[in-house]
Amino acid sequence: MGVLVLGSANADLVVAVERRPGGGETVLGGDTVVMPGGKGANTAVAAGRLGCDVALVGAVGADQYGSLLRESLASSGVRTDLVRTSERPTGIAYITVTPDGENSIVVAPGANSDVSPSDVDSLDWAGVSVLVCSLEVPLSTVEHALAVAAAHGVRCVLNLSPVAPVSPEALALLDPLIVNEHEALSLADSFAGLLTLGPKSAVVTLGGRGAAVVTADGVVEVPSPAVDPVDTTGAGDAFSGALAHRLSSGDDLVAAARYAARVAATSVTRPGAQPSYPTPDEVLA
Ligand code: ADP
Repeated sequence: MGVLVLGSANADLVVAVERRPGGGETVLGGDTVVMPGGKGANTAVAAGRLGCDVALVGAVGADQYGSLLRESLASSGVRTDLVRTSERPTGIAYITVTPDGENSIVVAPGANSDVSPSDVDSLDWAGVSVLVCSLEVPLSTVEHALAVAAAHGVRCVLNLSPVAPVSPEALALLDPLIVNEHEALSLADSFAGLLTLGPKSAVVTLGGRGAAVVTADGVVEVPSPAVDPVDTTGAGDAFSGALAHRLSSGDDLVAAARYAARVAATSVTRPGAQPSYPTPDEVLA
């Protein structure tokens, strides 16, 4: 297998409301829409849709949302045998959306909190060329996975979202560290300054402006195709999944980022996170 994704799987429960309730108040909303989500599952689905040989390492509960997530992964070509069934419930993101398009989100991590270093110790690394992690699962598990992957000669990619205090030892393994512009500027004064944190390379996603690839040779910007955005949910995860796929296929980092920007831009032209991810024929030029 080419790519292992270590990260979260959540059910997104979305309800439209006219306005958010205050303390002690009840408001009525629209019908609940249930969608498969979570940064890990999104990243794996993005790679799987592109034809990548990919598996998710994570955990869901023995409940209807766990089944929904497994089905979504499998139907996108993602291997689910490394998704453990936990005693805890599947992670859920409770999302309210107001008419101005703004989201408020409560995440109940559930089974994602249970993804542990022992899940990493049981992995078979034969044939794995890239590990991509994100941080809705415990930091100690992510740091352990990066160390074990690197010891097996696997290329380590981390989408540092949400930002967490990753150890210098783990940061030094990354090639690349992926952050969005806001996260980048919370970590360093400039994009080039990200390398002082220790990674071999960094990629900063810049929304509609594409992405910046940072290496010891300098900063190279890759454009995003100009699109009318419909829904940017999960765009960063689409970028990470596509980048990992192309790195495992042998692209250099700039070429992989160029393709990932096209994949992520395609995803923002359609609603939802996972449902918006393109197959190779659908990726915008
Ligand atoms: P995040 O969703 O993690 O905050 P970004 O907003 O930087 O990350 O988006 C990730 C990628 O999605 C960008 O690098 C770009 O390729 C694509 N993207 C996001 N917003 C747009 C947009 N308005 N137009 C075109 N592409 C976009």
